[in-house]
Amino acid sequence: MIRLCGIRKRFGENLVLRGVDLDVPEGHVTALIGPSGSGKSTLLRTANLLELPEAGSIEIGDHRVVFEDGIKPQPSAILNIRRQTGMVFQNFQLFPHRSVVANVMEGLVTVWKWPTDKAKRHALELLEKVGMSDKGDAWPATLSGGQQQRVAIARAIAASPTLLLCDEPTSALDPELAAEVVEVLSSLAAEGTTMLMATHDLRLAARVADQVAFLEGGQIVEQGPPERMFSHPSDPRTIRFVRTLS
Ligand code: ADP
Ligand code: MG
Repeated sequence: MIRLCGIRKRFGENLVLRGVDLDVPEGHVTALIGPSGSGKSTLLRTANLLELPEAGSIEIGDHRVVFEDGIKPQPSAILNIRRQTGMVFQNFQLFPHRSVVANVMEGLVTVWKWPTDKAKRHALELLEKVGMSDKGDAWPATLSGGQQQRVAIARAIAASPTLLLCDEPTSALDPELAAEVVEVLSSLAAEGTTMLMATHDLRLAARVADQVAFLEGGQIVEQGPPERMFSHPSDPRTIRFVRTLS
């Protein structure tokens, strides 16, 4: 179980997350929806401690960190949480001066200290899995957005993270290229990859997620299975928002 509990995060005067509780059961996918500025990206960045919350606890795999006023966890505890996660960004964020295969190997070699040849073999297997095995030697800039995102997904899952975080993984893509990425994420979900993804993409959420959580004003307002959340939401704020999506 991945468990976020009572997460509070402020930027200056702006209280962005106001006590968020969210569980992602192992092997399941939760989609996070909500208006722009509601705190989706901040919540994902807090889940892997790229941002440190003021309060709350984060539990991923066998690791748990707690934040309270004035008490910060040990750097090693923070590192342990970070290493349980992989992240996919809206704009891919591949290293531009490295080949595709080098992008996928990077974390395995630098963070996990795998020998280069073993890392390369594993990276090539992952590229195969995302349908990019013929592009290992290519430079990221020569690929389409959909191809870059598939490489970014291979990179994010390279070290078999306990939790895969995806921040609007299809938002920068034309529908046809987004479809390639939806396919890859859907096959990862079918294999039992635990994911938390922020998305505006109804097709992605309906296809991949088994829970949808609606975030507004830094709080989870409503959550439930996609069929119910998209067809019969109950909170007026969810109803209003879902109308803007379809
Ligand atoms: P979403 O992803 O739902 O659009 P964000 O998490 O990006 O929302 O942003 C939520 C709020 O937090 C916004 O008001 C945004 O301006 C603010 N915010 C996000 N990141 C930072 C930051 N690094 N510094 C200051 N404010 C930030
Ligand atoms: Mg965002």
